[in-house]
Amino acid sequence: MALLVNPKLAICLSLLLIAQLSVAGSGKNGEIFTSSENPHEEFNLTKLNSDKIQVTFVIVKDVRAVCDVESKKRGFGGFKASVEACSFWDSASINNKCTVVLATVANYHTIGHEIRHCMQGNYHK
Ligand SMILES: [Zn+2]
Repeated sequence: MALLVNPKLAICLSLLLIAQLSVAGSGKNGEIFTSSENPHEEFNLTKLNSDKIQVTFVIVKDVRAVCDVESKKRGFGGFKASVEACSFWDSASINNKCTVVLATVANYHTIGHEIRHCMQGNYHK
């Protein structure tokens, strides 16, 4: 018999919120991105939400609109600002699922940033 747990979901805004950007510009998809986060920053991987996570990738043209819909679908406040990507993770150790919304053109940094949310939740301080 399986114990069903409604996992706590959370959203990621921080890489991508205009208000938080110190250095910003327009990407190919018209979204705002930051170059203030070091893509080579090292971090500890000994604590993960789960070591087995089912990730769903949603590849779209209008990232902000889809992130907004996905956010509200989960009972969060939505995305008012332009974003490069977003992720919706759960913190369950078993049956862990994560959704990552990306533009049709992405980069290693953005994918890594969002996948880290799947692995470690809200790692931003
Ligand atoms: Zn983030």
